[in-house]
Amino acid sequence: MLSKAVDLSPPASLPGAAVTDRPTPAVRLDGVVKRFGTVTALEETWLRVEQGEFLTLLGPSGCGKTTLLNLMAGFLEADAGEIFIGDDLVTATPPYEREIGIVFQNYALFPHMSVAKNVGYGLRMRGLPKREIAERVAQALALVKLTGFADRSPRQLSGGQQQRVALARALVIRPKVLLLDEPFSALDKNLRGAMQVELKEIQRRLGVTTVFVTHDQGEALSMSDRIVVMSAGRVRQVGTPDQVYRHPQDRFVAGFIGDVNRLPGRLESRAGERATVAIGDLRREVEAEALRDCAAGAAVDVFVRPDHLGVRPMGEAGTLPAQVAALVYQGSHIDLHADLHPDLAGSGRVVVRMPGHGALATYAPGTPVGLLVPQGGLVAFPPEP
Ligand code: ATP
Repeated sequence: MLSKAVDLSPPASLPGAAVTDRPTPAVRLDGVVKRFGTVTALEETWLRVEQGEFLTLLGPSGCGKTTLLNLMAGFLEADAGEIFIGDDLVTATPPYEREIGIVFQNYALFPHMSVAKNVGYGLRMRGLPKREIAERVAQALALVKLTGFADRSPRQLSGGQQQRVALARALVIRPKVLLLDEPFSALDKNLRGAMQVELKEIQRRLGVTTVFVTHDQGEALSMSDRIVVMSAGRVRQVGTPDQVYRHPQDRFVAGFIGDVNRLPGRLESRAGERATVAIGDLRREVEAEALRDCAAGAAVDVFVRPDHLGVRPMGEAGTLPAQVAALVYQGSHIDLHADLHPDLAGSGRVVVRMPGHGALATYAPGTPVGLLVPQGGLVAFPPEP
């Protein structure tokens, strides 16, 4: 079943029919399900990938990202539902007829072929004239900054260069959709950052619809137009990076995207779209939607980002009593770990992200402090069952 929060096409739509008056999406999944024996790798999923957008499938290992990508690619057959690429129903169409470009984590280049032959492979398969192949291969190599590497063999390339060849090979066929499965995970951190920026530039320049799989939330937040957050074979939320970061629709998304603290709270009242929660002696407003099934007085978990908390002297107005547990040097900032006062039922440890290094001199472990909880930017959910 779909969660109420997920903004997807209405299941009431007829297979193959236009769901709304929006333009035809680049890819559409209508009620797609995939099982492996008794494991449901992908529960019923309704999803639109808009023309030209960069959509990321994000979630922990085993949540079904690759399964979803492989269904779009045609490497897997759906057990139920239908898949469209543009106007074409492709549910039963083999991968090579779907006009998609694919880049895998492990490059998957042909080791016995030169760079140019690797890149031109899809064009030779399509029977294009030699001259056109040569031109398009040269353009694709220029696009990924590998002009001059045409005659090398993949063995003579670094990991980053091999992944550029894989990208050129996927783009040279001018695919309707580019599918990327954790393409940078084998690269070291610096190279990975540089490749992310480059891929995004290329994608923007070409306007090619892209579906990108990653379990790295930073990568997803920095590159995507929209993110599909998944867990346990289910789409939990679809939204822009800002929507999933600042307005998570369930506690899984709140906990998975970005660092977050949990504060013990209690629902006091609800009025329209807003609810008031008590955290110790503090009263704060949150969105009411996620607490729709909670009665007044029920325990709730309030989530707050480490960089939204502040540290003040113990007892200052608007703060929760706590004690400094540790200071962790992080280069650009300090993470101050503090234990909430045990009188706060269900309290635990929280992290406050403090810019600069002043905290190191000011707060020794053991110092009693007041944790400043912001008025806005908080989200609350019922506790885990
Ligand atoms: P990762 O990030 O580790 O690649 P993922 O989110 O891509 O994970 P999938 O590979 O889509 O996850 O797997 C989803 C679920 O389906 C997992 O429980 C996995 O064990 C199962 N699964 C995937 N492929 C098969 C298969 N060929 N046979 C049986 N089970 C499979």
